[in-house]
Amino acid sequence: MKIIFATKNENKLKEIREILGSEYEVISMKEAGIDIDIVEDGETFEDNAIKKAEEIMKLTNEIVLADDSGLEIDFLGGEPGVHSSRFMGEDTPYTEKNKAILERMKSARGSQRSARFVCAIAAAVPDKYTIIDRETVEGLIAQEPAGENGFGYDPIFYVPKYKKTTAQLTMEEKNKISHRGKALRAIAERLKRVNW
Ligand code: IMP
Repeated sequence: MKIIFATKNENKLKEIREILGSEYEVISMKEAGIDIDIVEDGETFEDNAIKKAEEIMKLTNEIVLADDSGLEIDFLGGEPGVHSSRFMGEDTPYTEKNKAILERMKSARGSQRSARFVCAIAAAVPDKYTIIDRETVEGLIAQEPAGENGFGYDPIFYVPKYKKTTAQLTMEEKNKISHRGKALRAIAERLKRVNW
């Protein structure tokens, strides 16, 4: 069965191919011959994932997966949230974004530093319905950046269970516990149960 994953990120494609297994042929938007940018202007992660999946499903009439993710920091009222990639400007390096967050978190102690990575994944199935799943990984904003792996906010996202930031975890360790890993596995299970 063919599935289009609405992402330009090769790592995400690799991850979902591993999770779904050989029963499914997962292809990128590029491989499907689609080159459009969908504006992520929804108010929630779910809104954006559903919008992307459904718009591309309508263009292709194929099953389309799309995700949207970000970091919610409780002390900052949920910021950067759905604006995670646009926060302080799309082109601002994450070293600067992370530094600015740590500065704003200076007075937060212990559990006041709670935060979570959130991932919503939608699968739009032609002539049927759209499946949506949302998963999180809970953590704390670190006192200072640490680690070289991952991307984005990983150096400042501390996971107490591992006593490490997600940038200090290997990719395998992170995929096991991450918002995206959990959401991909959940959507894969649910796709297998769709009554074709
Ligand atoms: P998108 O869902 O690929 O558009 O990602 C949204 C933004 O959320 C990314 O650009 C990062 O800023 C942030 N983000 C999402 N997931 C992660 C993660 O696993 N680590 C670090 N940052 C993340």
